[in-house]
Amino acid sequence: MPLLENLRRRPTLSYEFFPPKNPSGWGSLYATLAEAARQEPDFVSVTYGAGGSTRSKTVDLVGRIQSELGIEAMAHLTCVGHSREELRGILEQLWNAGIRDVLALRGDAPKGDASFRPHPEGFAHGSDLVKFIKDNFDFTVGCAFYPEKHVEARTLEEDMTTLKIKQDNGADFAVSQLFFDNANFFRFRDKAAAMGITLPLVAGVLPVLDINQLPRFRELSGCVIPDSLPAFLGEGPDVWERGVEFATAQCIELLENGVAGLHLYCLNKHPSVVKITENLRARGFFPRGA
Ligand SMILES: Cc1cc2nc3c(=O)[nH]c(=O)nc-3n(C[C@H](O)[C@H](O)[C@H](O)COP(=O)(O)OP(=O)(O)OC[C@H]3O[C@@H](n4cnc5c(N)ncnc54)[C@H](O)[C@@H]3O)c2cc1C
Repeated sequence: MPLLENLRRRPTLSYEFFPPKNPSGWGSLYATLAEAARQEPDFVSVTYGAGGSTRSKTVDLVGRIQSELGIEAMAHLTCVGHSREELRGILEQLWNAGIRDVLALRGDAPKGDASFRPHPEGFAHGSDLVKFIKDNFDFTVGCAFYPEKHVEARTLEEDMTTLKIKQDNGADFAVSQLFFDNANFFRFRDKAAAMGITLPLVAGVLPVLDINQLPRFRELSGCVIPDSLPAFLGEGPDVWERGVEFATAQCIELLENGVAGLHLYCLNKHPSVVKITENLRARGFFPRGA
């Protein structure tokens, strides 16, 4: 069933993948995707690279996931380095490949650039890309939001007004940056409702597989690392099990409090998201075939 219809009925479950940089990554990615498909997520998404050759792979990969694995696939797309006409061309390719869901993003400045600079014939904000897609295509359009504030924004309130613009420009739903403290997500959701934001707000949840990844996650996403998290995860080969335990507890609390959907950041590895999905099913969430 189309993503948007599901989002209106009940919480959705989705997984996120990225196109591998090296040819060796592709074999294991297909094996991972096949395992993930057995869990019957509502959809999977494929990220769009910061530049270079993986970008065209996003289009190929979403098409293959949808046609070969039979799972609804959403393509991420960013404004970085693209004119409007280039974006139109990519969107046409996606449409022709049968893709109907796009996550519209601004993207980050390429490595080495101090800040994001829009293409002279392109777009400056994620909300501009949302509008362009809605004005020109029939895609279901998702956008990003940041329960703990986007790193470039001065205040959470200022950043939240940009989510309202995305909604006003036609976005159908929004997916969050990863976060580890549900209280921040709930606070954001309450404030958003008070501002008239009615979009389904899907929570992005990342199971930590390796404690050494935490500083990088914080640097890239600006997420808050609760003081208790490193101690909970501990060290050694069992970290991933505790990462799964933490993420499962996070997901259960979100579901019990009416989250619109869960989007699990897989990092192209299936065991953790398969385990989280099984844990949630054991608690009665996401029954198969629902
Ligand atoms: C779920 C999710 C998936 C992602 N997938 C990818 C991916 O596949 N590829 C990738 O490269 N990156 C991805 N990112 C990262 C994303 O590209 C970066 O976080 C980027 O810096 C912001 O993108 P955005 O669409 O949220 O930008 P915007 O909404 O444009 O926001 C960026 C900054 O500009 C400010 N702003 C926005 N609109 C206005 C306005 N009208 N006036 C003034 N200020 C404004 C915002 O407050 C914010 O500080 C993803 C992020 C999320 C949360």
